[in-house]
Amino acid sequence: MTPDEFRTHGHALIDWIAEYLEGVEQYPVASQVQPGDIRAALPEHPPLAPEPFTEVLADLDRVVMPGITHWQHPSFFAYFPGNSSYPAILGELAAAGLGVQGMSWVTSPACTEVETLMMDWMQELLGLPARFRSTSATGGGVIHGSASEATLASILAARWRVTGGAINSLGDTSHLVAYATSQAHSSIEKGLRIAGIGASQLRVVPHDRSFAMRADEFARMVADDRAAGLTPFWVCCTRGTTSSMAFDPVAEVGAIAQREGLWLHADAAMSGIAALAPEHRWVNDGLELADSYCTNPHKWMGVNFDCDLFYTADRAALLGALSILPEYLRSAAAESGAAIDYRDWQIPLGRRFRALKLWFTIRAGGATDAVAMIRRHVAATQQLAEWVAADGRFEIVAPHPLNLLCLRLKAGNEATDALIVAANETGRALFTRTVLDGVVACRVSVGARSTELQHVRAGWELLQQLAG
Ligand SMILES: *Cc1c(COP(=O)(O)O)cnc(C)c1O
Repeated sequence: MTPDEFRTHGHALIDWIAEYLEGVEQYPVASQVQPGDIRAALPEHPPLAPEPFTEVLADLDRVVMPGITHWQHPSFFAYFPGNSSYPAILGELAAAGLGVQGMSWVTSPACTEVETLMMDWMQELLGLPARFRSTSATGGGVIHGSASEATLASILAARWRVTGGAINSLGDTSHLVAYATSQAHSSIEKGLRIAGIGASQLRVVPHDRSFAMRADEFARMVADDRAAGLTPFWVCCTRGTTSSMAFDPVAEVGAIAQREGLWLHADAAMSGIAALAPEHRWVNDGLELADSYCTNPHKWMGVNFDCDLFYTADRAALLGALSILPEYLRSAAAESGAAIDYRDWQIPLGRRFRALKLWFTIRAGGATDAVAMIRRHVAATQQLAEWVAADGRFEIVAPHPLNLLCLRLKAGNEATDALIVAANETGRALFTRTVLDGVVACRVSVGARSTELQHVRAGWELLQQLAG
């Protein structure tokens, strides 16, 4: 492809993206294809000669679009928000255009320095504790690809700290014990497993009726484990669980964790971004004793995947766990201590210039736009809760302080399951099922950038109709 052809096709692709996003409502929300359909629409073997790029782009419509579930659709109420916005898309494109590897400061200084500043901007915008700032004595932040990576990094830092900085031998991890509720994200158990801490070393702390961790039970379990000669080392408080958006009491748990010497990780992947709006800043309350924290602009801030903000108040432990210095990566800048090498803050070596999409988004007014969107989503969810409460066939099964409502049919689990299947089959909306202490619920997650009250109303009317 020549530079001129790149210009032509690039402009065409930008037009295609804009038309897609402006017209996304016309599609069924979920892809209707069966497994194998997309592959079957393409040649089994790679082309032997170059094809005209217009044909490649045409296949986006012909082959790819039927296999897309439309996360940007205003009636996408499934999983969690995964929204994008125009400045973020352009930031992504600019990062691809530069094609830099940001593993060290010296491999592209701007990649590191813009990222560090964005982490500090976000610390301010989210009202996070000052000890997470890169300018603080012991903390700092980094952009990870996902909250799952952030959780794993947190576990590894905690393991390093509790095993006395062992790297030659990782020490005996068989006595280490971690804590979370059954409502915590699956990435917690997975991260522990990767770190050599088996499922039998993960304590499931009981939750209360609002699905939040019981701090008294946590304290009791830590005491029991100590009495049994084990080493409690890591606890995860979720601020907005994926299943029902429960908020673990992070300040109370933090006090216990500090007294007992555990690393406290706060997982706010889905809901932490709500703190952009001052009235929702409570989502990040109580973090003063957290050792690490993560939230995802790639969920609810219009910054497309991948962009997870990972902060720690103990960067020495993180760097202790993850630093490694082969000869070919030595640099005077890093050795002087004046520059950050983010490869030491993450699992992979290579890293993309992800900060560009966050920088573009914030500078183009995206933080203010996100606040307006968050308020619209929260208001629509609260309105939905009123509608649901007024229909005797339905009930709400969990607290709903923000943009997620879990509802069910009083007729029971089977009826609720059938309702979710029937609603999703229409293609007019998409909901996700969950189970809360044995009760099947339909999750209504209001989080697409294009979602307005009218879409929530239409989704609700669909559920009402199908409920018979
Ligand atoms: C979505 C979610 C995650 C996982 O996020 P990824 O960035 O996809 O890894 C972790 N924790 C919670 C609470 C979530 O909602």
